[in-house]
Amino acid sequence: MLRGLMQDAPLLISSIIRHADLCHGDTEVVSRTVEGGIHRYTYADVHRRARQIAQALGRLGVGLGDRVGTLAWNGYRHLELYYGISGRGAVMHTINPRLFPEQIAYIINHAEDRYICFDLTFAPLVEKLAPQCPTVRGWVAMTDRAHMPQAQIPNLLCYEELVAAEDGSYEWPRLDEWTAAALCYSSGTTGNPKGALFAHRSTVIHAYAASLPDVFNASACEVILPVVPMFHVNSWGIAYLAPLNGSKLVLPGAGLDGKSLYELFEAEKVTMTAGVPTVWLGLLAFMQENGLKFSSLKRAVVGGSACPPTMIQTFAEYGVDCVHAWGMTEMSPLGTFGSLKAKHLKMSPEEQFGTRIKQGRAIFGVEMKIVDAEGRELPRDGKAFGDLLVRGPWVTTGYFKGEGGDILRDGWFPTGDVATIDPDGYMQITDRSKDVIKSGGEWISSIDLENIAVAHPGIAEAAAIGVSHPKWDERPLIVAVKRAGADVTREELLKFFEGKVVKWWIPDDVAFVETLPHTATGKLLKTQLRQDFKAHKLPTA
Ligand code: ADP
Repeated sequence: MLRGLMQDAPLLISSIIRHADLCHGDTEVVSRTVEGGIHRYTYADVHRRARQIAQALGRLGVGLGDRVGTLAWNGYRHLELYYGISGRGAVMHTINPRLFPEQIAYIINHAEDRYICFDLTFAPLVEKLAPQCPTVRGWVAMTDRAHMPQAQIPNLLCYEELVAAEDGSYEWPRLDEWTAAALCYSSGTTGNPKGALFAHRSTVIHAYAASLPDVFNASACEVILPVVPMFHVNSWGIAYLAPLNGSKLVLPGAGLDGKSLYELFEAEKVTMTAGVPTVWLGLLAFMQENGLKFSSLKRAVVGGSACPPTMIQTFAEYGVDCVHAWGMTEMSPLGTFGSLKAKHLKMSPEEQFGTRIKQGRAIFGVEMKIVDAEGRELPRDGKAFGDLLVRGPWVTTGYFKGEGGDILRDGWFPTGDVATIDPDGYMQITDRSKDVIKSGGEWISSIDLENIAVAHPGIAEAAAIGVSHPKWDERPLIVAVKRAGADVTREELLKFFEGKVVKWWIPDDVAFVETLPHTATGKLLKTQLRQDFKAHKLPTA
């Protein structure tokens, strides 16, 4: 081998924030705070305070590989912790505060977190958790002395006091790029949550890839507002790629309702945003009710669960390019983006739409294939569907502490999704393998049925689940929430499916409910729905 002569510079998270300071030092980071009001500073400030918090953690005895947890919204202190914790060689462990307290306690104990930093919103939760979490030496309230919570929390520390005690003269260590940097537990619809452990190297490569024009298209001219929480797989990489590119960053705090988001989009001239479909339902409904328009927003990235085609259309009516994306915690999380190619732009909007609704094509770095039950690769013809497998430098090899054992199949990670891949490389999820409805030995895609149901003008949200049937094993049931003021009937909704799917895919029944249950990351909680409707008697049974 003739060895290349380039330098061996480790890919480190600290280098992202140092670069942002040097090249985009005056670019703003704007946060809506939990204490109330808007906080504004720059990447130079983030870098300085990240070094101060890194020093403070050292003083608290946080060492290489120690886990430090956060229970926090998207805000500037959370961003400082992202860099301060990982930058010094400890592990940034973001915890989803929407999980049940028992699950959170399980996760903290499993991760053996040394400290937990929390936003004031979560003081009552922390009060409950503290006695159950023996590995935690201290609980850091992410606020100043004046706002410290009155709750009964042992070893309570004040974030601003920790920062103020340090001078920021900290040099980031030159770590091995394989050093663990961040830990995120997947909500795990079955069994206990399991931790995906990201390295510095994987995180930096993922951030580069996520910045590409056909992915987030980040640049120093963009203003990015991640609605996706920083506790949901590192805000899909935005907390890293925004400083890497010098994009202005707008962090919405706890205000994720339509009104709060709209006001922030407009006040800060946001150009790009990302989040799960549920949050956009709220934002788009608010805009429709109030006859509003966007003045700066160009791009909305939708992922985490299937983006209903009607949402892509509604965004388009507001002049926003809605890009469908797919990924998972175990993939850091990005896998595919649905950006169009030149040949699509020559097509009619209807033809383009057929591609837009797919989850998208692999980002360079991610390899994908679909296989049948025997593990044989299936054709990339857009029709054959099978288990989706992935591999690449930001895909996990296994879970933290070996949970779940050896999970790879010949080096490929099984995603648990069922998908097609077309000749242009666009992947489309037909279902999560545990959500497919199995009727008479054939599979019915619950996502397809849900997309049709929500396209009905009287339906706000819908879930399709399999309910047991004496002859067909399972048949589809639609559980739906009506739009405010709409009075659609069961018969009308079932009729709406005719001609849109083959006859045997048409659901057998509809149940109207007030609300649908969601997971902690905003996805339909189908395990609970299947439980709730276990005894549902189908009229066809
Ligand atoms: P969790 O499993 O912890 O809820 P993840 O965010 O890792 O969290 O979930 C990954 C799963 O979410 C994927 O395997 C897939 O089933 C689903 N998913 C993500 N994005 C999409 C999408 N655009 N369309 C359909 N399903 C999606």
